Amino acid sequence: MELKQLYREIVNEHNLRPSHKGDMEHPDLVLEGVNPSCGDDINLQLRIENGIITDGMFNGSGCAISQASVDMMLDQIIGQKQEDAVRLAGKFMGMIKGEPTSEADLEELDESAALQDVSHMPARVKCAVLGWHTMQEMLEHPEKAQH
Ligand SMILES: [Zn+2]
Repeated sequence: MELKQLYREIVNEHNLRPSHKGDMEHPDLVLEGVNPSCGDDINLQLRIENGIITDGMFNGSGCAISQASVDMMLDQIIGQKQEDAVRLAGKFMGMIKGEPTSEADLEELDESAALQDVSHMPARVKCAVLGWHTMQEMLEHPEKAQH
């Protein structure tokens, strides 16, 4: 199977059968992220214990890229320290903006690296970064997201 096709299937799978879609009971942080240029709208919910993201869910609607991206992100950040999740967000956004990304970074981004091609689709960049940007915003400015 060609790599590009594999990547497309990863994105499709997360879009059709997301692991983290729904509403969480008693989240610690909740923030809405909106990308008006495409109509993507997500409500991101995180539970934080002792600086570690112990659970995460999202709800909302939007294009396949925005929905798959946030689902893949949650796969990766649940169980991580807040600062590691923010660091990973920086790497992801760098990749999507077309900055040089090392093999080690791609490996660390795991399935999210499937969205690397979005760097050649300027109209979809905001779709791909919506979840990550919302997560970074709520961790860096928890006063906006306190529940
Ligand atoms: Zn979109």
